[in-house]
Amino acid sequence: MSNHDVVIVGGGPAGLAAALYTARMDLKTVVVDRGALGGQLLNTELIEDYPGFESILGSELATKMGEHARKFGVEVREFEPVKEIDIEGNTRVVRLESGEELRAPALIMAAGGLPRYLEVPGEKEFWGRGVSYCAVCDGAFFKGEELAVIGGGDAAVEEGEFLTRYASKVYIVHRRSQLRAQAILVDRAKANPKIEFIFDAQVKEIKGDSKVHVVRYEQHGAIKELSVGGVFVFIGFVPNSGLFKVHVDHDDAGYIVTDRNMQTSIEGVWAIGDVRAQLTKQIATAVGDGTTAAVAVAAYVTSLKDAART
Ligand code: NAP
Repeated sequence: MSNHDVVIVGGGPAGLAAALYTARMDLKTVVVDRGALGGQLLNTELIEDYPGFESILGSELATKMGEHARKFGVEVREFEPVKEIDIEGNTRVVRLESGEELRAPALIMAAGGLPRYLEVPGEKEFWGRGVSYCAVCDGAFFKGEELAVIGGGDAAVEEGEFLTRYASKVYIVHRRSQLRAQAILVDRAKANPKIEFIFDAQVKEIKGDSKVHVVRYEQHGAIKELSVGGVFVFIGFVPNSGLFKVHVDHDDAGYIVTDRNMQTSIEGVWAIGDVRAQLTKQIATAVGDGTTAAVAVAAYVTSLKDAART
């Protein structure tokens, strides 16, 4: 049993920014993460789009953000998977797999999510060496190369189009003959001379040596190969919003819906970063979400303490 002013679930950029601010505002803050601090930063080789850092390793930025939050007294609980989040009256309860409970009047949900994986041979092996899940983050590393984008939804078509800024050619490889993406995105992609669609193609393997060179796929019973320098996988993203034992409003894809202060449909619960329904998933927006939520949480906790005193 432990008592804090705020529990933050998730130690990525959103959670760590929130923690830095709440701790600086004198709130007793704990951050819990199922892994090491850093979230998706740890899956990103080089970051070139976070203001102030022209080029920094994802792991280095994760370390810096963690150290910065710790400097202000944040309690950090790494490698502590959360089992569920519950509400008991005015207390928000985070139950850990270990059996321990973290309790506080305020909770910030910053557990992000994970890209859906293809789960084919080579995908894990070449992660960061040609396999990517983020065009904005990694596209610039593939200037002049031919790329494969896997998927047929809005993300695949939109990110495929984005990648033509850098790539000499982008193959959008989809498992069916019909795209799921919106017509406006499809029309734009079809008009782009750098994009070629490959339909009815089921990816079987990603191959290479020190980096990716080939995507093997099955089409109409035949095995075929594409020579590419990179593979961008956009077959969906799975937000970690399923930890709540109580209902919290979310959109059709499972992203938590908040107001402009990051407040969810549950009083005393905020959601920030990639788990939240919003336009984009960037480090800068995650940090902004965390800052907003922290200020709102500080006002909330102070009002509860003032009310308890009178
Ligand atoms: P999505 O709409 O769920 O599409 C996922 C695509 O990946 C589908 O084409 C699906 O094929 C394919 N897929 C799924 N599992 C696969 C597998 N194991 N192997 C090969 N292909 C697989 O996901 P999304 O494109 O990431 O979009 C998620 C949400 O964000 C959507 O609601 C979307 O509208 C929204 N979004 C909007 C915009 C925009 O408005 N500009 C941009 C990006 C995302 P099938 O078609 O055969 O199922």
